Amino acid sequence: MTTSATVPSDRLTDQHAPTLVIGAGPAGLAVAGCLKARGAPCVVLERGAEIAASWRRHYDRLHLHTAARHSSLPGFGFPSGTPRYPSRDQMVGYLEEYAQRFEIVPHLGEEVASLRPSDGEWIVETAAARYRSPQVVVATGTNAIPWIPAWPGQERFRGSILHSREYRNGETFRGQHVLVVGFGNSAGEIAIDLHEHGARPAMAVRGPVNIVPREIAGIPISSVSLLLSRVPTRLADALAPRIARLTTGDIARFGLTQATVSPMTQIRVESRIPLIDIGTLDLIRRGHIEIRPGLRSFGAREATFEDGSRDTFDAVITATGFRPGVARFLDPAVDSDGPITEPARTGPAGDAMTKWPRSRVESTNGLYFCGFAVTPTGMLREIGIEARRIAAHITARTR
Ligand SMILES: Cc1cc2nc3c(=O)[nH]c(=O)nc-3n(C[C@H](O)[C@H](O)[C@H](O)COP(=O)(O)OP(=O)(O)OC[C@H]3O[C@@H](n4cnc5c(N)ncnc54)[C@H](O)[C@@H]3O)c2cc1C
Repeated sequence: MTTSATVPSDRLTDQHAPTLVIGAGPAGLAVAGCLKARGAPCVVLERGAEIAASWRRHYDRLHLHTAARHSSLPGFGFPSGTPRYPSRDQMVGYLEEYAQRFEIVPHLGEEVASLRPSDGEWIVETAAARYRSPQVVVATGTNAIPWIPAWPGQERFRGSILHSREYRNGETFRGQHVLVVGFGNSAGEIAIDLHEHGARPAMAVRGPVNIVPREIAGIPISSVSLLLSRVPTRLADALAPRIARLTTGDIARFGLTQATVSPMTQIRVESRIPLIDIGTLDLIRRGHIEIRPGLRSFGAREATFEDGSRDTFDAVITATGFRPGVARFLDPAVDSDGPITEPARTGPAGDAMTKWPRSRVESTNGLYFCGFAVTPTGMLREIGIEARRIAAHITARTR
């Protein structure tokens, strides 16, 4: 294990790595596992003190939304007896076992600060070391940096405002009126958790939404999505409102606006996963979770919404997502080359979003990205597919 200590850049000595993988979450471990299975060595760098750092930080109640059989990494499944939707701790345990199984020993506490090309190789610098490698796989995840939009008056609000990443459980919010901003999967589950802990949750929802049940007729939605991903987009969009009415009923009566495009299109075009419902809608129906329009501004105790209505809150939890943060370390000259990142996109409310790398599995210059494709069929499943292809490509390239 290497620990981080700042060494002046000119005193760093070059270390050679046959392949360098940045990140020891599911994507980095999957790539390393696939390389090991092919007899190809690699060095894995992880900024956290342990592997699976993102998963260890998730809130207590979290269970996978995708079924275990679609969420394991290549070459090693979840142990028998694992429930269909593993808990956060079971996921962390599984990732630890995966690393042991493939003898992956990442350099922990090493945050990559820069990644740039030089003489046909890649140079990767952390505070403690400089690595040279012909291949680098960026597996730092789409959730590297919590994203909190700025609302007018936010600094005057006297209650606490925290990002969903900092949320552990609803214990500290017992008896409080809590505003959850957002309507993604974290928002939906955190609202349930708050209710279960005796808080009074409300959700601020700013745009049209898609809600899908976690299972349809006992079949996990990840399996249903696999089938639906083959349906032409226009047909899926045409059918979407009718399917939504059948599965969730009329959500307009709760103050929600049904999206006019299918969940598939929403994922493909906006990279937004629909709410996979594990009980949020029922609590909304029963009046235990209030729905409010998008958040406009804050006062000392109250929030004002887009329709001009106001209410007082004790705390606000922003489940407003993350940014990948690759631009923090990737040489901008590489960035502007074109194929590595998509053009900067603008969020629905005009928030400037950082550049979002495309997953890239057939690299011509030795730079790969794994885990950046937001897909209807589950990111973990996609990570497995990408990792296999990346490892095959790297071994073919180095042969
Ligand atoms: C709350 C939540 C629930 C989810 N549930 C599901 C689900 O049920 N099913 C599903 O398929 N997907 C789910 N996802 C999506 C999920 O993010 C991915 O499935 C998976 O964790 C992504 O793995 P990853 O390795 O790409 O990213 P991460 O798990 O975020 O791992 C990235 C790793 O890179 C490290 N890192 C980052 N920057 C640097 C750096 N500069 N230098 C060194 N190391 C660095 C991080 O510390 C981290 O360990 C969920 C996401 C969230 C936020």
